Amino acid sequence: MTHHTGREPGSVAPERLDAGEAASAVRPTDVPVDLELHCAGRPAWRCTHDGEPFPCPTWRALPLDDSLRAVLLAAFTLFLRPAIRDLRGHPDGPTPPEIVRRFLWFLPVTDEEARAVALRYR
Ligand SMILES: [Zn+2]
Repeated sequence: MTHHTGREPGSVAPERLDAGEAASAVRPTDVPVDLELHCAGRPAWRCTHDGEPFPCPTWRALPLDDSLRAVLLAAFTLFLRPAIRDLRGHPDGPTPPEIVRRFLWFLPVTDEEARAVALRYR
């Protein structure tokens, strides 16, 4: 038996997630803006470049197609768990379903679906 260090094997350290990962995943679609500047600043989840709530308007303005949606889905689901942990429970902050809808803006997500997703990522 190996000694248990407190971190589960294979778990991703949340502090290592940043928008650069998402940006480099998006880059092959050749978008005309430098997305790597637009990173998530934790724990407030504001863009480190323009101070807007992350994902900021630069991300939200990307022209969407199916292949970009697939890339965004893979990248932004990584943010859900740490974002919900950081943002939930603040009196003026977003609810977990609102956080889900904010980070998955590129998908048509109903309130019911957002609640179901939030329960899985809390
Ligand atoms: Zn930004």
